[in-house]
Amino acid sequence: MSGLGEALKSFAVTRWVSRKSRKDFERWQARALRRWLDRDLPLASFYGKAPRHLDELPVTDKALLMSQFERFNIGGVSARDGWAAASADGRLGNLTIGASTGTSGNRGLFIISEAEKYRWLGAILAKAVPDLLWRRQRVAVILPQNTGLYDSARKSRRIDLRFFDLTLGPEHWRKALEDFAPTVIIAPPKMLRHFAAAGFRLKPLRVFSAAETLDPVDRPVIETFFGRPLDQIYMATEGLFAVTCRQGGLHLAEDSVFFEFEPVGDGLVTPLVTAFRRQTQIMARYRMNDLLRLSEAPCRCGSPLRTVDEIVGRMDDVFRLASVHGPILVTPDILRNAVLKADRRIDDFRLIQTAPDTVELRLAPNLADDAAAAALLAVRALLALRQATVSVDLVRAPLPLETARKLRRVEYRLRLT
Ligand SMILES: [Zn+2]
Repeated sequence: MSGLGEALKSFAVTRWVSRKSRKDFERWQARALRRWLDRDLPLASFYGKAPRHLDELPVTDKALLMSQFERFNIGGVSARDGWAAASADGRLGNLTIGASTGTSGNRGLFIISEAEKYRWLGAILAKAVPDLLWRRQRVAVILPQNTGLYDSARKSRRIDLRFFDLTLGPEHWRKALEDFAPTVIIAPPKMLRHFAAAGFRLKPLRVFSAAETLDPVDRPVIETFFGRPLDQIYMATEGLFAVTCRQGGLHLAEDSVFFEFEPVGDGLVTPLVTAFRRQTQIMARYRMNDLLRLSEAPCRCGSPLRTVDEIVGRMDDVFRLASVHGPILVTPDILRNAVLKADRRIDDFRLIQTAPDTVELRLAPNLADDAAAAALLAVRALLALRQATVSVDLVRAPLPLETARKLRRVEYRLRLT
């Protein structure tokens, strides 16, 4: 099948599945998962044969996948060849290889075929802009790296897609972006917020936050500037995991991923994902680093796909503290809310655990002293309530726009544990 054929088919399947009842959807999903377990998963040498049930398979994670990279892809491509290809043009024969951004040692490689690339494109269009495709859209993708995923869309009749390199900084491409006049913008929330702060000349029909956790503090700034609701695309090296529907529900991509959930307390879960439509790099029961709060109610749009109230942050950024009752975990959402609720004038901050018993609260120098004092007090009170053994220090310093790394307002910065 041609690339365009794959994209169209994927578009159609994605739309068709979204109209099923939950019961019919689950039946369809179970069949698709079973077929994948029988036909695709055994082709990766790590597995070798089909399991009777998914839950017989071990839980996997990034460290395992990266340490035995060649055993998780059906071509047996080694991590060494993968990294070499990713840092060159991202091609290895007819495969596309890309790497996630991140600190060294924590980066992931992905590997997909041409057909998968087009299927991914069809799925994302079906979820994100199905109602806009009656006329040609200009889509601006502003992400850290052009992974090659977007190349497939460039020349198509329905879409004019352009990539703007986040790491170069907006000063390098501001004019090009404004002249392009995108109708759809996909960018990390910090960049969308920068467009607002710097008054970029942009009038998109739809705006998506991607690649970083969307903090509630950024949403009103971005929505006011663009005069539109802000939608989300939740994707990672590991694939496409959720997209906002036209009713504002953030739907899990259960039509290509089977989700299991591990509870971590406070009503939050981390997902184990099984990507049952991927055929090149096999990903089964893979533990994601993200913290999700699942919705209880189905979405008004009628889609059978489950929704998420919020992607709260990353498990990596949970604070790990000692308390009089032993070790405790404090999740990023609770810490963030303590700071933001302390004073309405606070719309940016950094809260970093820098040592087992030390937390640093960073606030910009132009924030009023009484607001800063209130935030410090709020964080101290929260941690005292949990009876944590910790000191919280206030640092007044500028909070610049950083394009080389992901923005994490709440961050756990001890890595040697
Ligand atoms: Zn919906």
